[in-house]
Amino acid sequence: MTVAVKETRKLVAHEKLLIDVIKRQAGTLKKAILEGTMNSVEAGATEIDINFLAEKRIVDVLSYLGCWDGRKIRIGVSDVAAAWTDGSSFIALDRSWLKSFTLTSVGSVLGLFTTLCHEMAHDTDTAGTHNHGPEFYEKYYEITKKGSWQNPLHHVYKFSEKMDKERIETKRIQEETKEKDLQESLVAASSS
Ligand SMILES: [Zn+2]
Repeated sequence: MTVAVKETRKLVAHEKLLIDVIKRQAGTLKKAILEGTMNSVEAGATEIDINFLAEKRIVDVLSYLGCWDGRKIRIGVSDVAAAWTDGSSFIALDRSWLKSFTLTSVGSVLGLFTTLCHEMAHDTDTAGTHNHGPEFYEKYYEITKKGSWQNPLHHVYKFSEKMDKERIETKRIQEETKEKDLQESLVAASSS
């Protein structure tokens, strides 16, 4: 008799994959965003969400905190899990799960951090079905009770603060670029 086994796979893209694909197809990141935006307008979009900037910001800020026991924070795609780990070198966060977050809400940030603590408590691969035995709970308790910077929960405030700073900085750069483009077009218009 053949028994059907349902297998769930989770994929993690290499951090350089996206930029590599973009560079091959569009040349530069700026051009890729422009093309993406133009395509969306042509397709009748009334709103365009350039999300990978937000995603990158989350990964950058989390990595900056350096409290993940040497595991790299990555973005992945899974339709069954919000996060998973190989037990030692990385913790992946599901792209659409992250997108559902309102990172200005304390609840969302705590949800993100407790999920990361959950993955930290696993020292084996959690990409497939996995156990949550007494050892797991002990480790989770240990991680969240540590009285030092190694405890991710100690960084919740720092994370929110840094995310705010980065958001403001990105906005400032965007506005500067907009102003520069406007000035350039004015110069071009006046010289023609
Ligand atoms: Zn688990």
